[in-house]
Amino acid sequence: MRFDCVMWDGAVDKDGYGLLSTDGKAHRANRFFLEKKLGRPLGAGMWALHTCDEPGCVNPEHLWEGTRDDNREDMLEKGREARGESHGLAKLTDSQIAEIRHLYASGVTQDVIGAKFNVTGNNVGFVVRGATWRHVGGLTKKQRRLTDDEAVWVKKLYKVGLMTQVEIAAAFSVSNVAVSRIVRGLAKAHIDY
Ligand SMILES: [Zn+2]
Repeated sequence: MRFDCVMWDGAVDKDGYGLLSTDGKAHRANRFFLEKKLGRPLGAGMWALHTCDEPGCVNPEHLWEGTRDDNREDMLEKGREARGESHGLAKLTDSQIAEIRHLYASGVTQDVIGAKFNVTGNNVGFVVRGATWRHVGGLTKKQRRLTDDEAVWVKKLYKVGLMTQVEIAAAFSVSNVAVSRIVRGLAKAHIDY
C-alpha cells in the first residue's frame, strides 16, 4: 500500500508538471517539494523523478533524486512492463538478481556475470545499477548512505505503516538492509524524529 498521489492544484506546464513561483521565478513544484524533503538543493544535473509517473504529483514520498539517465532507464523499464514485452531479463528470478548484485559487489565483471546467466553485459549493468528490480534489493552500484534528514523520513514512513521497508528502500534508492537497520535502531539510532 502506498500513500496516494498529491496532485498540484496550481498552474502546470505543458508537460503537466506543477509550477510555483518563488523569487519571481517559476519553478517545477516536484523539484521544490523534493528539495524540502531532502533539506538541500538537488545536486548539479539531478532531476526530481516520480515513482508514480504522475508529473503533477508533489507527494514527497513519490519523489526521488536521480539523473537524466536514471529517468530514461526508469521510463524504459516501465514502458516495457506496460507493453508486457520480454526485455531479455524477465527470465531471471529474484534470487538470481540478488546473486548478480552479490557477484558484482565482489568484483566480478559485468561480462563474466552476463556469460554465467546468459544475458548481455549491458543487461547486467541495468541490474547492478539498481534501475530495475529495486524490489529485490541487494547491493547495487547506487548504494549510498542516507542523510540524517532522509533517515528521519524513513523512520516516519515506517512508523505510520503505509509503506513496507522494501517500498521505502525503493523510494530512497537504497538497499532494503539500510532501511531495515534504521527501523530496528541499528543505524542512525541517535536521530530523533
Ligand atoms: Zn504520486
